[in-house]
Amino acid sequence: MNCKKCNTEMMAFTEGSTCGVKCPNCGYNIVTSCLANNELPEENYTIMVGTIDEPQVSVLKMIANICRCNYLEAKKKLKSGLEFKGLTAYEAQMILQQLRSEDMHYTIKPVHSE
Ligand SMILES: [Zn+2]
Repeated sequence: MNCKKCNTEMMAFTEGSTCGVKCPNCGYNIVTSCLANNELPEENYTIMVGTIDEPQVSVLKMIANICRCNYLEAKKKLKSGLEFKGLTAYEAQMILQQLRSEDMHYTIKPVHSE
């Protein structure tokens, strides 16, 4: 396997509970969980919420609640587009439930099946 960036042959490495391959030339790396420690599938969901210029109070309340911020900050976040990263399946589920209750438009990666 060669480096995507500089095409040097990549080397395997192990670091704690993660392992993967690393480019000795430029440091580019691909990390995977070690098989031995991989009891549960890696969960890393991203939820993106579409921008809203004039959100309803109920929406502000929900976002403020999810982000643990005040309404003013929630409004700013909604204007610029909101992204929740590094969520576990459980966290993603919790957020989705709330977004759905307000009919919010959202995108989730990886695609969540029910
Ligand atoms: Zn490289």
